[in-house]
Amino acid sequence: MARQQVFLVRILGIPVGLDYSWFLIFALLTALLASSYYPAEFDSWPLPLYWFMGALTALLFFVSVLLHELGHSVVALLYGIRVRSITLHVFGGVAEIVDEPPSAAAEFFVAIAGPLVSFALAGIFHALQLPLASVQPLLALAEYLAYINLSLALFNLVPGYPLDGGRVFRALMWAITGDMGRATVIAAYVGRGFAFLFIALGVWQIYTGNLGGGLWIVFIGWFLHNEARAALLHQAANR
Ligand SMILES: [Zn+2]
Repeated sequence: MARQQVFLVRILGIPVGLDYSWFLIFALLTALLASSYYPAEFDSWPLPLYWFMGALTALLFFVSVLLHELGHSVVALLYGIRVRSITLHVFGGVAEIVDEPPSAAAEFFVAIAGPLVSFALAGIFHALQLPLASVQPLLALAEYLAYINLSLALFNLVPGYPLDGGRVFRALMWAITGDMGRATVIAAYVGRGFAFLFIALGVWQIYTGNLGGGLWIVFIGWFLHNEARAALLHQAANR
């Protein structure tokens, strides 16, 4: 486990850690929920309840992210692929999978497992809204978690390698070409295309007055661009 992390727990033999950047995003998300999401929905709560629900919601969001990463990890382990660690960080989380997948099918199922877990969680939290309807704070919590898990599944399915959708795309290219190296190069170029799309969308958002959201989208695009570039360089070095 890298040094800039706090060890949390071991699940299925996999060490789970918190990157230092996680504490920043946890605090930001808690503050955003406590000062914006919950007050917009309910205006008559006592102040501590906003903050308690903000922190609880942020915590359950990261539990959801952890379950998403465990989805990838469990399928990887079933294929005999080693998982070195799971880390929660500023962009959510990552399961560090040591080996390249042994086949296109393995890659496909490892990649799709995470979004499937997120879809399932969205469904569960959506279904919980009915029995929780009379308890205002819990209803709002279930609503938010249903929404955020659905967003998580959909965002990760964007076919920009190394996002899950990009890995699914690489698995399909691998199955078609029969060549993992070529599939990686194709997926990384498509990933770079999506990174530029994110940056363009973010810049457009900034021009139309959404500075915070726009900057965040640019930041994600820049991150995806670097990841796709690293995948290309790695592939070139291994040739
Ligand atoms: Zn994932």
